[in-house]
Amino acid sequence: MDCLFCDIASGRLASKKAYEDDDILAFHDINPQAPVHVLVIPKKHVASLLDLAPEDDALVGALVRTARDLAHRLGLSERGFRLVLNCGADAGYSVFHVHLHLIGGRALGWPPG
Ligand code: 5GP
Ligand code: ZN
Repeated sequence: MDCLFCDIASGRLASKKAYEDDDILAFHDINPQAPVHVLVIPKKHVASLLDLAPEDDALVGALVRTARDLAHRLGLSERGFRLVLNCGADAGYSVFHVHLHLIGGRALGWPPG
């Protein structure tokens, strides 16, 4: 299967890693929207939020907790940060492998564009 983030998860494609364990990889976004912009992905291929199953609940919890730990390690927990899961065309979802955006290091507008 042709998937950019599967290639990054397996190491076939290079990335600037922020965290890795058996199930999860976090790496810096190639086109950062803020001083900190990290993508946290499951190594397992899940095409989008629409494809998550109940058996993925622990994985989703681990993604969020990993992002929270990274926010702390990258110095964002005091000023704040945002976690974003895009889904579908209206949200600009462009890489079809679930990824959690960790964004911070500047004041973020609300509502998002
Ligand atoms: P989406 O819009 O699908 O939620 O986010 C996809 C994100 O993946 C974008 O922020 C984009 O900059 C990032 N991205 C796309 N291709 C690559 C790549 O090859 N390497 C890295 N590190 N990030 C990428
Ligand atoms: Zn994939």
